Amino acid sequence: DKDPRAEVIASSIRVVPNFPKPGIMFQDITTLLLDPIAFKNVVDMFVERYTGMGISVVAGIEARGFIFGSPIALAIGAKFVPLRKPRKLPGEVIAEKYDLEYGTDCLEMHVGAVQPGERVLVVDDLVATGGTLCAAISLIERVGAEVVECACVIELPELKGRERLRDKPLYILVESR
Ligand code: AMP
Repeated sequence: DKDPRAEVIASSIRVVPNFPKPGIMFQDITTLLLDPIAFKNVVDMFVERYTGMGISVVAGIEARGFIFGSPIALAIGAKFVPLRKPRKLPGEVIAEKYDLEYGTDCLEMHVGAVQPGERVLVVDDLVATGGTLCAAISLIERVGAEVVECACVIELPELKGRERLRDKPLYILVESR
């Protein structure tokens, strides 16, 4: 039932308590990237799941969603669309604000990168409160495209981010606390 590759992934992630501030258990995927087998397991597990599903766009969330999203897009033959922090994209953009613990943040997407009716996979490294994925879903739906699923390496299930996505499926490889 359980894929043994998920255990290799889980054990390669370094957990750093109280970073970047007290009380946060930071899930550091840079140690996963140092382990080519763990990194390959992540890509392989997602590629196996999303091959042949008619996905034409992988939308990766800055910055760690770029690392995992790009090889998935290449392997399934989809385009890669970066969802970026404000004022990074040079063309015309649409923007979606979302709430953080203190203040707000924003994601932007190039107009025309995703066409109406396209089937999109959203990729990030981790889902915590779900606010970031929620903003990504809004951007894609605003241009008339469909979010097939959100894919993250890690879920922090205690924060119930899954509930903020309502009907959108969320697929994760490992859980943490
Ligand atoms: P959220 O919008 O609350 O679901 O937060 C998800 C985003 O914040 C992702 O892009 C993560 O990379 C980052 N993030 C939130 N919490 C953590 C954590 N404990 N460790 C590492 N990254 C985190």
